Amino acid sequence: MGDRLRAKALAYYRGESLRILAAATMTGARKPYFVEAHVDGHNSTYIVRYELGAWSCTCHADGCAHAATVQLATGHPSAASPTPSHKGS
Ligand SMILES: [Zn+2]
Repeated sequence: MGDRLRAKALAYYRGESLRILAAATMTGARKPYFVEAHVDGHNSTYIVRYELGAWSCTCHADGCAHAATVQLATGHPSAASPTPSHKGS
């Protein structure tokens, strides 16, 4: 399940289906606290948002690959992330 989600997210990411419209990062932070992005899916374009610590996507699916794609692109931990073997500094 995680591998499948990761494969889908990577396909979106590499296929240039992802457009990040807005990302706001606090000074000194490594990850944005607000993100709005569009991901071109099979039938339509999905809108992914991250705000107040929560992800949402207009597809409303469990295990949404669109949000996972944006998580990959912005450095957020996600179901599509590889298991970290070491901590970044
Ligand atoms: Zn979605």
